[in-house]
Amino acid sequence: MNGTRPGKIIGVGRNYRDHAAELGNSVPAQPLLFLKPATTVIADGAAIVLPGESAQVDFEGEIGVVIGARLRRATEAQARAGIAGITCVNDVTARDLQRTDEQWTRAKGFDTFCPVGPRTVAIAPERFGELEVLCRVNGVVRQHGHARDMVFPIIALVTYISQVMTLEPGDLIATGTPAGIGPLHAGDVAEVEIPGVGVLRNPVTAEAR
Ligand code: ZN
Repeated sequence: MNGTRPGKIIGVGRNYRDHAAELGNSVPAQPLLFLKPATTVIADGAAIVLPGESAQVDFEGEIGVVIGARLRRATEAQARAGIAGITCVNDVTARDLQRTDEQWTRAKGFDTFCPVGPRTVAIAPERFGELEVLCRVNGVVRQHGHARDMVFPIIALVTYISQVMTLEPGDLIATGTPAGIGPLHAGDVAEVEIPGVGVLRNPVTAEAR
């Protein structure tokens, strides 16, 4: 995270068909947006803390888009020019609370539920379709997604979100997770890798209560 916290984090739900299907959902006609508070952010190496309120906290490896310019009702060309780079995100989710709550604020919003890093890498938007994301738990590959399989690709997402809210430098978009999500347990090590960007590695601990 280079020491700075994003002003806001916008998540995108069900942006890969295979992941929507594994949870029994269809893909939305328009991007499905949610917010994670900035207080969820932790850096590479910091611990994901499992809260006592949840019995199932899942990893979600995702391609993160870091905004580099102010974008308000951006065109696709402005969106392309307004992206600072790509980073790894783990959109940690309390799956049981996501099921029981109408809104996802609690499920997505616990402290430490947004590991980000280890760096932001500038990548030409023309190459976004080549991006891949892998998630490993304890060294075992659990997810392997390709940006070309997104329902709504990166530029379309940035453009769409900017019609709703002004995007500002440092804001982070978690672009959705591919199939393979599963639970984390205390003692695990979760890794999200985007080849060419880096590996985000976070240990998992249970909350001391
Ligand atoms: Zn997600």
